[in-house]
Amino acid sequence: MTNGDQRRVSYFWDPDVGNYHYGKHHPMKPHRLSVTHSLIMSYNLHTKMNIYRPYNASIMDMCRFHSDQYIDFLSRVTPSNINEFSKYLTAFNVGEDCPVFEGLYNFCSKYCGASLQGAQQLNNKQCDIAINWSGGLHHAKKFEASGFCYVNDIVIAILELLKHHVRVLYIDIDIHHGDGVQEAFYLTDRVMTVSFHKYGSLFFPGTGDMYETGAESGRFYSVNVPLKEGIDDTNYATVFKPIITDVIQFYQPTAIVLQCGADSLAGDRLGCFNLSIRGHGECVKFVKSFGLPLLVLGGGGYTLRNVSRCWTYETSLLVDEEISNEIPYSEYVQYFSPDFTLLLDKPCGDVTHNSNHNSRAYLEAIVGMVRENLRCVAHSPSVQMQAIPTDFFKPEEMEATKWPDNLSEEKIDAKPESKPDLVKPSTTKS
Ligand SMILES: [Zn+2]
Repeated sequence: MTNGDQRRVSYFWDPDVGNYHYGKHHPMKPHRLSVTHSLIMSYNLHTKMNIYRPYNASIMDMCRFHSDQYIDFLSRVTPSNINEFSKYLTAFNVGEDCPVFEGLYNFCSKYCGASLQGAQQLNNKQCDIAINWSGGLHHAKKFEASGFCYVNDIVIAILELLKHHVRVLYIDIDIHHGDGVQEAFYLTDRVMTVSFHKYGSLFFPGTGDMYETGAESGRFYSVNVPLKEGIDDTNYATVFKPIITDVIQFYQPTAIVLQCGADSLAGDRLGCFNLSIRGHGECVKFVKSFGLPLLVLGGGGYTLRNVSRCWTYETSLLVDEEISNEIPYSEYVQYFSPDFTLLLDKPCGDVTHNSNHNSRAYLEAIVGMVRENLRCVAHSPSVQMQAIPTDFFKPEEMEATKWPDNLSEEKIDAKPESKPDLVKPSTTKS
């Protein structure tokens, strides 16, 4: 079922991005992306969007934010030559949390290229919403890897959006603080970062208290909402909705980037919040309701089956398609046993319940303080727009990466090395 405000949605999917492995015992499983994509396809949601095989970001694209030395290191290090780079491992924070694995650079290139292409399509008004579930790696820093993130696709995509947009709003609902993105734009009013996250008891990355508000021209343009464990849907909504409403009213962004880390769901292997998939999706629905150009990204999420459920459900919200709670057959259907439902009755099913440590008074105090700071953003900043820098690749090259309209899962999986059959620009739908 569709409603009146359906918007043009572009979805970026590289069939190889789910085949990388951080390591057997590492909680980050790129395979969750393959399972998510398969579920999206089996719900036929691909028929409601334009699907693109994304551009692969180049070294130059990554160096728009990261240092040359760091990206040079990422592009050359492999598990077999890692000994030659031993003196750099500590400097670039590569090792346990952020291991060197086979194809590391290509993995980064794929997830980063997809976010960049999404930003460019939004700039060129080729879509209203761009989705890249493989992106959203918000911890990566200019000179180093952090928290399973190597290249910060979010910062690079926002830099692209800033070519056309005066003010970009970044919203982060991952359970971890969006520190890499905040740090990148801490001194500017061109980007407002708003992060809702668990804070305290040495929870990673340890930053994001409510007094981090930005500096210099960026003072009051970083917003942090530190939460305690066990927050549930109702309590989350009582902070998320008023804060986002006020932020949009005061800041008047012209584009929004939404990081949808699914480790804020109940039952996450690393998280400790109590959000249900419906509650998490409510944030996506709410942000979408403002009708602004929107780049939707993934992020954390370590209980694989629930990450896939969540991002599939959120894809359905973004394309305005109501989907059945009964999970249709797909090659990964066994992940969803024994109930085979999309939205679980109890928050995320078989979970250890974290009781809510966020009192009403605490949450009201946070909302009050954020609102107080927002009053200091008295005028949404404007910039003297210069000549718009050129796109990093031409629209016709980008169009050539569009998947055929009759894309089916079989086609993706059957011939991974020879697809897609490229569609010439003149034959594609606009
Ligand atoms: Zn996270």
